[in-house]
Amino acid sequence: MIDLHCHSLYSDGTDTPEALARMADAAGLSALALTDHDTVEGIPAFFSMQPEVKARLLAGTELSCRFLGKSLHVLGLLVDPFDAVFIERLAELRKRRDDRNRRMIAKLQEIGFRIEMADVEAEAPDQPGRAYLISRVHFAKALAAKGIVNHPQQAFESLLNDGGRAWVPMDELEPSEAARWIREAGGVPVVAHPGRFAGGAFVWDEAMKELRDQGMEGLEAYYGEYAEAQQRSFKALAAKLGMAMSGGSDYHGRNKPAIRLGRGRGSLNVPDSLLEGLEARRREGSWH
Ligand code: AMP
Ligand code: MN
Ligand code: MN
Ligand code: MN
Repeated sequence: MIDLHCHSLYSDGTDTPEALARMADAAGLSALALTDHDTVEGIPAFFSMQPEVKARLLAGTELSCRFLGKSLHVLGLLVDPFDAVFIERLAELRKRRDDRNRRMIAKLQEIGFRIEMADVEAEAPDQPGRAYLISRVHFAKALAAKGIVNHPQQAFESLLNDGGRAWVPMDELEPSEAARWIREAGGVPVVAHPGRFAGGAFVWDEAMKELRDQGMEGLEAYYGEYAEAQQRSFKALAAKLGMAMSGGSDYHGRNKPAIRLGRGRGSLNVPDSLLEGLEARRREGSWH
């Protein structure tokens, strides 16, 4: 059993990379990929645990893209976390995110809420030498801490969700650009939690084919929040389109308390063979 999707304190999780590495063994995982949003800065700390941990510790990241007018997440699995060009590109993404965050504070203040960037930053504890990223999760926690909403989840529902009153879109990547960046860093681009993107008259077969043509090599067919039927349909889609499969819990620690590392809501079980498939893609990559 493996888990190729989780978050640490370096983005919007609540565990250190070191703790996640230990938890991989405790959960009986043979491999765990750390996939923080827009950063690989947690990977060196994660890798430093390899001698102590039986599970294979793998590098990854999760990038936000714009596709068909909506936000689509893309995992960069097995990237080289020391690739200087990739690190520079991720720093540029975090600048765009900072800009979005400042505009979101301004919007909240315009609505009439008394909240400052410092309140949000207080929810992403910085430590010397560690630059943690600020996401909407930290906005939600700050809004709850200030009593503006009763609960972080309520902050999403009333203000922060895509299209919400205080939401400001990020300047997101084109899927083709994300795929190219990930490939150039030696990784495999994988469409994250496609089930979350669906809805309405949306036809997954065509959308995924378009994403494959834009450079996506795989899709996350096993996911912490899928029902059995959804998992089956994404497996069939991957087979039909000749894409690799990935799988993970999207564990965020206490920020998503219903999700457990490796097990998702309880029944997730991602087979080791998926990692072999992704590694084969990486070896075959014509971009190397
Ligand atoms: P951002 O990257 O700043 O746009 O924030 C997106 C993050 O917020 C996602 O990665 C999730 O962790 C979290 N998130 C998004 N929507 C919700 C929601 N409705 N409820 C709880 N968490 C959410
Ligand atoms: Mn997240
Ligand atoms: Mn995501
Ligand atoms: Mn994620």
